[in-house]
Amino acid sequence: MAHDYDLFVIGGGSGGVRCARIAASHGARVAVAEERFWGGTCVNVGCVPKKIMVQAAEYGQWAEDAAAFGWDMTVRGHDWARLAAARDAEVARLAGLYRRMLEGAGVTCFEARATLAGPHEIEVGGRRVSAARIVVATGGRPVRPEIPGAELGMLSDDVFALRSMPKRLIVVGSGYIALEFACILRGLGAEVDLVYRAELPLRGFDQDIRAAMKEALDAQGIRQHQSCLLDRLERSGGGLRLHLRGGRVVEGDALLFATGRAPNTEGLGLDRAGVCCTEGGAIEVDEEHATTVPHIFAIGDVTDRLNLTPVATAAGHALADTLFGGRPRRTDYRNVPTAVFTSPPIGTVGLTEADAAALGPVDIYLARFTPLRHTITRREGRRTLMKLVVCQTTRKVLGAHMLGEDAPEILQGIGIAVVAGLSKEDFDRTIGIHPTAAEEFVTLRTRTREAGVRAAAE
Ligand code: FAD
Ligand code: NDP
Repeated sequence: MAHDYDLFVIGGGSGGVRCARIAASHGARVAVAEERFWGGTCVNVGCVPKKIMVQAAEYGQWAEDAAAFGWDMTVRGHDWARLAAARDAEVARLAGLYRRMLEGAGVTCFEARATLAGPHEIEVGGRRVSAARIVVATGGRPVRPEIPGAELGMLSDDVFALRSMPKRLIVVGSGYIALEFACILRGLGAEVDLVYRAELPLRGFDQDIRAAMKEALDAQGIRQHQSCLLDRLERSGGGLRLHLRGGRVVEGDALLFATGRAPNTEGLGLDRAGVCCTEGGAIEVDEEHATTVPHIFAIGDVTDRLNLTPVATAAGHALADTLFGGRPRRTDYRNVPTAVFTSPPIGTVGLTEADAAALGPVDIYLARFTPLRHTITRREGRRTLMKLVVCQTTRKVLGAHMLGEDAPEILQGIGIAVVAGLSKEDFDRTIGIHPTAAEEFVTLRTRTREAGVRAAAE
């Protein structure tokens, strides 16, 4: 049976746009539906506007630090509205670019919600169309914890809509979004209370990085309330009171719940097409991103695997090449480098010490030092941490972790080495670039400790 399209993509975010554009470049007849904003979370309420705000906060610190280098600087405060206007203009430019890129590639764009009406049928903007293949790339949305008064708190989307900066902000959570926004708002001058339930922030990250992050947050004056469980949230005068279990209370002008995201699968009509989801609501896919219905695929955050933009775009690209480009390939979810844009930031790739040690004996190489800039500024909490996790048997570098200035930029390069499976000796014979912090990764000569199965047995 002839279909209206060879491919229909639901969701015009990072994964959907890439998949649609590449499929069209291979000659497929492609349509994409986007209900809210072209470019999706990353462009509109994620990576891009967030990074602009990170940079805004950095300028404040640099301006303060400049005096140590002889500059006569007076910082008279920060204009939130001006930052918001500059950020929003860039976001609008990029969203328009995404839409034009799709049209330029010959993709039919629907600015409407799309739902599945059957195995090959899609309802979109009051019309019913059919497609030989369908890709679901509907992303995710932030979620509130289930406590009384939760509706009084903001979600990450709301921060980008704020027209002025809350002077006292409570942030709940200690994942990527919680820490990034805590550092941004603190850097722009707000008082910040960070409430989380673990002992250290960033569950899942390397333990040394987590401990160093906690110190760095302390040093910039972010008040941390760790090992705390939530009870209820209520209004108090013009502000909010967050009650914690055990009776403690934290007060602020506003509260941000950065307590995770849920896949956008509700009301999509997946059941009408026979597509199955996990208990958490994510679409179940195999290594080729095929759902339980072989001609329906899912990519990106809606599959809730590694919820990162480059992972969604890589999956979209690989899928389009596989389906329409005659170049079948899979996306490799191992050794994906990632960064947390805190102050200072984190960059990481590969296994943590604990995960590697669970597989076998490892050597740990670790350095902590004050970067040259801060030997001059004497700013607290700016010590850099670098760490390599090396397999004792193969000598392969299994993991590289850094907290310190430029960590995301440095780890992108180190990520290539880890993906390539290079050994500690390959790192050692690489000559450093001097004077940089990055050179420390190739001059870590002395083993700090060993860990893992054999070390534990000895
Ligand atoms: P999305 O980009 O969310 O796109 C899904 C699109 O589908 C949306 O535009 C939505 O409107 C649309 N849609 C949903 N349902 C329908 C429907 N039924 N019909 C039509 N359209 C629909 N990742 C990084 O790698 N680096 C970062 O620095 C980073 N920072 C982030 C900061 C924040 C605050 C947040 C929230 C996320 C951040 N991320 C970051 C994660 C990143 O944004 C996501 O992993 C990425 O956007 C996922 O892409 P996607 O295509 O799967 O989904
Ligand atoms: P994360 O999963 O990273 O963190 C969620 C946090 O919320 C954790 O600290 C978790 O605590 C806490 N939490 C969850 N439920 C509750 C609850 N009921 N009560 C108290 N605390 C709770 O999610 P984020 O929302 O920070 O970010 C979502 C995803 O978006 C990230 O995982 C990442 O993939 C992506 N992202 C990437 C960025 C980047 O690349 N720089 C930046 C921002 C987002 P606990 O640890 O105890 O479970």
